[in-house]
Amino acid sequence: MTDASLPRVILKPRHALPFFNRHPWVFSGAVKGVEGDPAPGAEVVLVTDAGEFVARGLYNPNSNIVVRLYAWKERQPLDRSLWSQRIDAALALRRSVFGTDWNERGLRLIYSESDGLSGLVVDWYSGWLVVQFTSLALWQRRDDLLALLTKRLQPEGVWLRTEKSIREAEGLEVADGLLTGREPPRPLFIAEQGVRYGVDLVEGHKTGFYLDQRDNRSAVARYAADARVLDAFCYSGGFGVCAAVCGRAKSVLGLDSSEAALALARANAELNGVADRCRFERADVFAELPRRAKTGERFDVVILDPPKMARSRAGLQRALKAYLRLNQAAIELLGQGGILVSCSCSGHVDRDAFEEVLSLAATEAGRSLQILEARGQATDHPVSIHCLETGYLKCYICRVV
Ligand code: SAH
Repeated sequence: MTDASLPRVILKPRHALPFFNRHPWVFSGAVKGVEGDPAPGAEVVLVTDAGEFVARGLYNPNSNIVVRLYAWKERQPLDRSLWSQRIDAALALRRSVFGTDWNERGLRLIYSESDGLSGLVVDWYSGWLVVQFTSLALWQRRDDLLALLTKRLQPEGVWLRTEKSIREAEGLEVADGLLTGREPPRPLFIAEQGVRYGVDLVEGHKTGFYLDQRDNRSAVARYAADARVLDAFCYSGGFGVCAAVCGRAKSVLGLDSSEAALALARANAELNGVADRCRFERADVFAELPRRAKTGERFDVVILDPPKMARSRAGLQRALKAYLRLNQAAIELLGQGGILVSCSCSGHVDRDAFEEVLSLAATEAGRSLQILEARGQATDHPVSIHCLETGYLKCYICRVV
């Protein structure tokens, strides 16, 4: 199809700068009009109010993101060959960082905007692929995308995971399930830094495991020698089991509200031969931490990895208060010289706001903090400089003084 025949989405005056700067999301508020009656999922050209070419994208009038942009060259069609190049570039990054033996690995192979494929996430788990579509237009192109992925990776099976909120946001009619190949074993096993974890791709959180915390788990293990570790919001024991195995922690207490998560965590401790040093208990961490702090209980390392607390900008103040209470209790449980590992996966909470929360929490607890490491997400979740929203994870390793 030639450019002239493509429908056009016209920006409002003075709204083009972010898109010239390659931000891939065009929200409805930036759009002045649409010419050519594109169907949902159709390829469109984004132009300025004066008719100047900006980028090529895919259209979804039913989403807040009316156009997702994929190419900034006028003659670059959004076709199979472009997807193929993008997939190759994404795989090349993972091969360069993680080598080529992925037999017992969990890796994010395609991370949406960060890999030039806004609306597609693909994770690899020991031979299986888990795919998430967050864009209607890419979902419509799934046969092409899956054929390209299958040709390169020859997975045992491809499992589709969806999130209700995203389905609703994009008007996607899809359900979790097997797309091709064999069903994944439950659990299947991956290894990180020599630690093995059982992963449930079908019912586990996210796509089965918090791959984004991989490097933070090994960073934290370096502080865990002989330590009493509290892994709050432990899920399947990612941090705690790594602290016991790699860090030689003296003891690990993992807390989570989900019985299914705790069962995975106990099995993972067993699998790695550290069950004698690890306990996993069901608790509401928000209530449990202040309660334990009051009893005078002490730990050497406290890890806080709560679920996303600010789902929208409107929820920001509430989330900051919750982070404050949690971090204050954690600091009280630590005392002088203790190590606080405080994470936030809420994209709406930026680093400045999070650092301010940590500072207030320390003050309220009558302590001070030294930041030893201000960390982010693992390298298979790169952050696009054009779409900083792709950087959501913060992991601060601090010393209580
Ligand atoms: N640290 C984990 C990931 C944590 S995800 C890892 O490295 O794999 C957040 C976890 O918090 C989930 O397992 C969820 O079940 C748990 N959770 C959510 N609300 C909670 C609450 N109020 N108390 C305890 N756990 C909670």
